Amino acid sequence: MRAVLLAVCAAALSARAQSVNAERLKADVAFLASEPLAGRQALERGSEVAAHFVAAEFRKAGLKPPVNGSFFQPFELIEYRMDGDATRLIVRIGSERRTLVHGRDFGGSFPARYSISAPAVFAGYGITAPEYGYDDYADLDVRGKIVVALEYEPRAHDPGSPFNGTGNTVHASPRRKLMNAQQRGAAALLLIPAPDRKRPFRPGRGARIQALAESELRIPLFTLTAEAAAALFAHCGRTPAEVQQELDRTLKPVRLPLRAEIEVRAAPTDVRRGLTYNVAGFLEGADPALKAETVIFCAHYDHLGQRDGKILPGADDNASGVAGLLELARMFGAGPPVRRSLLFLAFGAEEAGLLGSYYYTAHPLRPLATTRAVLNLDMIGRDEQPSEQTDGLVEIGSDHSNETSLVGIHASPDLAALIRRENAVVGLSLSEKWDRDGVLNVLWRCDHFPFLLRGIPAVWFFNGFTPDYHTPNDTPEKLNYAKMEKIVRLAYRAGRALADQPEWPRFGPRVR
Ligand SMILES: [Zn+2]
Repeated sequence: MRAVLLAVCAAALSARAQSVNAERLKADVAFLASEPLAGRQALERGSEVAAHFVAAEFRKAGLKPPVNGSFFQPFELIEYRMDGDATRLIVRIGSERRTLVHGRDFGGSFPARYSISAPAVFAGYGITAPEYGYDDYADLDVRGKIVVALEYEPRAHDPGSPFNGTGNTVHASPRRKLMNAQQRGAAALLLIPAPDRKRPFRPGRGARIQALAESELRIPLFTLTAEAAAALFAHCGRTPAEVQQELDRTLKPVRLPLRAEIEVRAAPTDVRRGLTYNVAGFLEGADPALKAETVIFCAHYDHLGQRDGKILPGADDNASGVAGLLELARMFGAGPPVRRSLLFLAFGAEEAGLLGSYYYTAHPLRPLATTRAVLNLDMIGRDEQPSEQTDGLVEIGSDHSNETSLVGIHASPDLAALIRRENAVVGLSLSEKWDRDGVLNVLWRCDHFPFLLRGIPAVWFFNGFTPDYHTPNDTPEKLNYAKMEKIVRLAYRAGRALADQPEWPRFGPRVR
């Protein structure tokens, strides 16, 4: 009886695994990218409508509301721009005093007034990576000081680098560097552009910025221009390039006798506050022991609103991923049950800097320690094309009609193997090229990233850029729905395996 039942279940399962409905994907993309939603910008009406739509679909799919009986996890945003006159870095070296101007000599933002004067201290790349036996902070006391560190990580353009070859690891991200400096008691972090950067760093100015009103970040991060960095290093008799070369050659800390005292002044202006939402739907696992553990599916529903009076519809970015997420909710909601619990998350305010997913990882609805894997969908609708984003920087190639990329997968070879195994049935062409990218920083540009920072295996299904990226031309009819259907099928199969199989994927990069 049991064996018969299992056979029936297996047959039903394979039938359901085939049952992604491309018409539903099309309908959901069309709604989310429609003119009345006006580009779904966080804090605007369109993004609220999108959030309510997602919640309604979660309910129809049979998911439970996990936030005290609600599908909504609210969080407060602070929207502002930097006051260009009041935001300054004043560098004193001996009797010399130089004022660096925001938007000209340095860039970055901080949502609160901040003012401190402290000695500068150089901390290499600002990285502590025990798994690679690397620590720029070894025997370095930075309490109360302004940490100056290089962007990126050692040997960034060397395919043989221990830090994921030419790709980035989490350690290259400004976020990880800032958290590392903050945990060590630093007063601020000043990044200097990697001298071997492929594009010069140019600070933006005047832009409106959104940030979490309640954030784990308590100290500011600013990035100097190459010129300002060279001037700061000059009295040490070494250029940033020479220092970088020594770091890359030795993989050991380099100390620099910086004698600068730096005054950091940050001032936001034009501040407004408002609530936005993550939307969460829960499906409890059927196994009495394993249901305490969680597998997450996610996709951000917000986009960029309007630019120059034109709506940015965001059909690929990211109506496509939300449509996929909703279809997954329907497929799992229709059964058969899985052993671990599933959490479906539609994140808000991703475009403003992954704010919804950072908020979620700071306020998880399910324990992070038993969150076993994260499957994130963003821009799963298009066939990649060369674009302004990639020209002269990343080789794109020609036929991508059956291809998607796995981003962040280097951090969990177990998860990579599981997805490739399930893909044997689905037959997509799976690329890892965006995991080898160290130029466009794709690794930390989507909602899987806050989970990687917490040591949770997480992958982003990403089809790559097109010339329509972040323009009014990101419209629904350009999507390859047949390929989307396959990506959703793959996510379904991978999610089911992650929820059902006894072992879970370990977190841990390939260390060379
Ligand atoms: Zn996106």
